[in-house]
Amino acid sequence: MNLPVPAELISVGTELLRGEITDTNAAFLASQLPLYGIALNRITTAGDNLEELNGIVRQALSRATLVITSGGLGPTQDDLTREAIAATLGETVAIDPELEKNLRAMFSRFGREMPPHNIKQAWLIPSAKALPNPRGTAPGWWVEKDGKVIVTMPGPPREMTPMWQNEVVPRLKTRFPTQPILARTIKTFFVPEATVAEICQPFFEAGNPAIGIYAKPDGIQVRLIAHGNNAADLLDTAEEKLKKLLAPYVWGKDDDTLDGLVGRWLVKHRLTLATMEDVTGGLLGSTITGSPDSQRYYHAGIIAPNDRVKSSWGVPASVITEHGAVSAPVAEAMALAVKAEPGADIGVSVTGISGPGSKQPGIVFIGLADAQGVKTWQQQYQPGRADTKERAAISALFRLRERLIELNLTD
Ligand code: ATP
Repeated sequence: MNLPVPAELISVGTELLRGEITDTNAAFLASQLPLYGIALNRITTAGDNLEELNGIVRQALSRATLVITSGGLGPTQDDLTREAIAATLGETVAIDPELEKNLRAMFSRFGREMPPHNIKQAWLIPSAKALPNPRGTAPGWWVEKDGKVIVTMPGPPREMTPMWQNEVVPRLKTRFPTQPILARTIKTFFVPEATVAEICQPFFEAGNPAIGIYAKPDGIQVRLIAHGNNAADLLDTAEEKLKKLLAPYVWGKDDDTLDGLVGRWLVKHRLTLATMEDVTGGLLGSTITGSPDSQRYYHAGIIAPNDRVKSSWGVPASVITEHGAVSAPVAEAMALAVKAEPGADIGVSVTGISGPGSKQPGIVFIGLADAQGVKTWQQQYQPGRADTKERAAISALFRLRERLIELNLTD
């Protein structure tokens, strides 16, 4: 059994240190590395300061076999990652003619002259090979020296992610071959993280598959990573056991999305969906349209932030006056009103208060009307606008999922 390769990650950029951007690259890479038998031991954030960066690269190299950097490959004076690596390895940068040709060609495709300072994006050092970057001007570097590997990638995630997938992963697999490592994610909802952790306790002790629990907007996810020649069997067995233990809460796995799931079922059963929402301000409609097939079943989406708009779409003013806009009867009336739109089979509504300042911030009512009748649910969230909105939109889709299961309208 190979030991995991010790690795460190360096995220470069003063913006990161100032909290102006969130380090999503580190989160992405940290979730990827275990899949390739790599043990990430440390993540360091470095500002755009050569001396500082130099020290950080040197220290990382003294501890780890693999050092990965992201950011600091731009053309300006404060983009210093290449300089720091060159200095640490005692090598000198030089313009690579092939890279220079590609760089100039990229600028001329956009009808622009290359600014002189961009030439540093054609630099290499003797131990580095360039990693192509079709989405930007900064190639990455794959550096091998004295048994160590440094991988350098650009900061923008839309450049870094494909470079990782297309250029770095194949090289890592060749350079650090491991026994098979496979991952699986089980997705749950309507269950607290602590309960999931308790249920999963025996898996933490087993070790292979390794288990991780993560809170995401669409619920708590359990991630399993198995290694060894029987990795696939280990995963299947663990998945079966976990699915039984978490049975009422599991809604999907791996790349499943909630909108994709309910969308698939609606298309299969030729049903259409219409929504009316207030507190979520269109987020429910936006989540539904995240699914590429949504135009096949998403029939209408109404944002009705006030009583007048609700009434104009068929919610009786008397119901609003009697119960208040944020109430189960109004959620019911909204779902019925939107279902009454010609061509709509199912109506889903969300009405709520996200706060602050209101009497009951975080209270949300969800309504669902179909051919069989109408139902409502009350939910209470922690006050806070963004959180309430996101969770309310997702809960509404979960209620729809539950209803489709009840009516046997699934795969
Ligand atoms: P460029 O060629 O675009 O200048 P670069 O490699 O120099 O790329 P930076 O200048 O460090 O990258 O960052 C450019 C942008 O990329 C940042 O403004 C930010 O939007 C994004 N970015 C950089 N690092 C990260 C990170 N660790 N996580 C998420 N986004 C990042």
